[in-house]
Amino acid sequence: MAARIEEFGLWINGRWESPEGAKRFTTINPATREPLASFVSAAPKDVERAITAAHRAFPAWRDTPAPKRGEILLRAARRLAERKEEVGRWVTREMGKVIAEGKGDVQEAIDFIEYMAGEGRRLFGETVPSELKSKFCLTVRQPKGAVACITPWNFPTAIPNWKIAAALITGNTVVFKPASNTARCAVEVVRIYEEAGLPPGVLNLVTGPGGVVGNALIDDPRIRTVSFTGGVETGREVYLRGARSLKMVHLELGGKNPVILLDDANIPLAVDGVLFGAFGTSGQRCTATSRLIVQSKIYDQVLTELDRRLDHFPVGDPLDPATAMGPVASADQERKILEYIEIGKAEARLRRGGRKLTGGLYDRGFFIEPTVFETAHGTRISKEEIFGPVLSVIKVDSYEEAIRVANDVDYGLSSALYTRDVNKAFRAIQDLEAGITYINAPTIGAEVQLPFGGIKQTGNGGREAGSAAVEEFTEIKTVFVDFSERLQKAQIDVE
Ligand code: NDP
Repeated sequence: MAARIEEFGLWINGRWESPEGAKRFTTINPATREPLASFVSAAPKDVERAITAAHRAFPAWRDTPAPKRGEILLRAARRLAERKEEVGRWVTREMGKVIAEGKGDVQEAIDFIEYMAGEGRRLFGETVPSELKSKFCLTVRQPKGAVACITPWNFPTAIPNWKIAAALITGNTVVFKPASNTARCAVEVVRIYEEAGLPPGVLNLVTGPGGVVGNALIDDPRIRTVSFTGGVETGREVYLRGARSLKMVHLELGGKNPVILLDDANIPLAVDGVLFGAFGTSGQRCTATSRLIVQSKIYDQVLTELDRRLDHFPVGDPLDPATAMGPVASADQERKILEYIEIGKAEARLRRGGRKLTGGLYDRGFFIEPTVFETAHGTRISKEEIFGPVLSVIKVDSYEEAIRVANDVDYGLSSALYTRDVNKAFRAIQDLEAGITYINAPTIGAEVQLPFGGIKQTGNGGREAGSAAVEEFTEIKTVFVDFSERLQKAQIDVE
């Protein structure tokens, strides 16, 4: 008999609720297809209740001094730190990334919550001189109200916390809609805030299909901002829908991130970075290295080194610390990646990999070989986001050609350049069209105290993390205090 799985409700106004007669869905382990837990498939009326709870909780939370809000965040961070091992295992079991990365996901969440807790004692505004006498000018940051955080499955604890911790410290209340296939991790996210003493209604969790829950959130006028991370097509729909009510919509979308290797690169170091960037998290990071652009003089040497390293790159059980790459996250992901591999076989040269792995433990989960194509620039695999363990290698003759190729895609999230030439490195920092540039390091590895985001179709101009996170969730109020006791007219009393 199959073991019973845990059942979870919606977290609304500080209570777990299971609406009567609600449909349910189950998450599974992508390495084994074992069912993990069951969740409510929320209907629009459930979303409505969550928004009402967030809306009602807003005035008291807004009026709670920001340093006090920070204390609650700090307790949440400490709670998560105590449970890092356990939550990290949930990340690995539900999403499939290897255990070191599962724990890394949780560590990123801890780091960011701590960072935002400190922001409770900053939330800086500006003080600016007035053009008039006896007049004081300043800005203050105010929360927006109830906000929606819609998150993907690839960083199931880090990305929700990037949004939730920033929204909370700035005084907003939140309705959190996680990706359906990592809903168990979302429960852990909510629990730490519950245990930290967050007042009822300040954070609410609604699980269920993106279309239903997402639309209900975006259409409700009480939701003042929608913060979304996910695929480009979904992001576009969310943006268009939000535009109808002139809602602020913050988008973090895809990438087609290049690593450029110039002739003078440290090849072993670069190949280390490329392996981590391309095949870490099975290539399912928005910052994953999906293109390797190599100058012709070192091209053969780089590919030989890549092959040598991939000959010993264990793919398998993500809970085993010796595994370098686990499964991809879902059957949908597997299908989409294998389709792209077929496209690649028709338009480029398959160097290695390219198959679904079978036999033994592979038969139970969604495992794909680390795959390398040699391709000309311009093929679909060299320009479209695959979001899987597939690397396109492109040969170029010069620095100028490398930059041209790197920039000639619809996305602009992360980028990297390996060189020992400091002048070329600084030139590339200017030339690469991307929100993030790494020198002599892979395209992945964001740190929470710095802004994160991209240009072109990667988003709509905003940034998350770092102090930029505060921008996303606050309105600026400009304040003039006139203590002259007479009517002073700006621009008119100028003599
Ligand atoms: P989606 O963009 O569909 O999902 C991201 C989040 O949006 C999930 O919470 C999802 O809910 C929700 N959602 C889905 N449809 C809507 C909607 N109409 N309105 C509001 N919210 C919605 O990503 P997928 O999981 O389908 O992945 C597809 C592709 O997106 C990937 O292959 C990859 O290319 C890209 N992607 C990029 C990410 C990034 O970090 N930039 C992260 C994840 C995916 P639900 O899970 O219930 O569908």
